[in-house]
Amino acid sequence: MIFRTREALGFFQFPQLAQRPEIRHAIFTRLGGCSQGPCQGLNLGFGCGDDHAAVAANRQLAVRAAGGGALVCLHQTHGTAIFSFSRDDAQCQSPESPAPLADGAVTDVPGRLLLIQVADCQSVMLYDPRCRVVANVHCGWRGSVANILGRAVGVMQERFGCHPETIMAGIGPSLGPCCAEFVNYRSEIPEKFWGYRVGRDHFDFWSLSRDQLRAAGLPEAQIECSQMCSRCNPHLFFSYRRARHTGRFAAVIGIAEA
Ligand SMILES: [Zn+2]
Repeated sequence: MIFRTREALGFFQFPQLAQRPEIRHAIFTRLGGCSQGPCQGLNLGFGCGDDHAAVAANRQLAVRAAGGGALVCLHQTHGTAIFSFSRDDAQCQSPESPAPLADGAVTDVPGRLLLIQVADCQSVMLYDPRCRVVANVHCGWRGSVANILGRAVGVMQERFGCHPETIMAGIGPSLGPCCAEFVNYRSEIPEKFWGYRVGRDHFDFWSLSRDQLRAAGLPEAQIECSQMCSRCNPHLFFSYRRARHTGRFAAVIGIAEA
């Protein structure tokens, strides 16, 4: 991962996606920002008890650090709905629109930054350079079990004409196999995923996401994984497993305005 600082914020970029000047992307850390208390740093999530003005200011900083654009935020529900909007839509998603209930977003509209907020769940960003379509997906264990990544690639194909073999993917910082402990996995996680179990009751959801993306048709070499565990790096990331009352970090991706 490439680490950058801008607007006094620290953020990561995926090496392959960073070679594409026509897109903007960033995985923000909690470094920088103006939140105090349990959400100290760059908390980008409303609804975790933080000061509203601080989150709004943090989001403005994040947009500037990412290179500009209008944020498109989702009301994430651990479901599998994918929100998509295209240049052909009569009315594109505007900054004033209410956040759609969805856990993934797909667009070909330049100047929009698709935001996924997390604190241990995966954010998985996708980009098809041939069709110039971006996606960002919130992928917790419920999303993984329901294969929301396969659904997102499906929307890119069906709605935007993307070919999976040209799509690039980046799996963001999230719970690693070191910390993804599921003591009740026998009742929570279907048996067909037990092959991803590590040790007694930990799971490797990074490998599962990689396999789901490959099954959707993405070439292995185009799938990047940050391999950074959110719970093991509390100075960099908010982690719900580490502290229930905490903030949210976020990943954004968008097509740059010409
Ligand atoms: Zn860990």
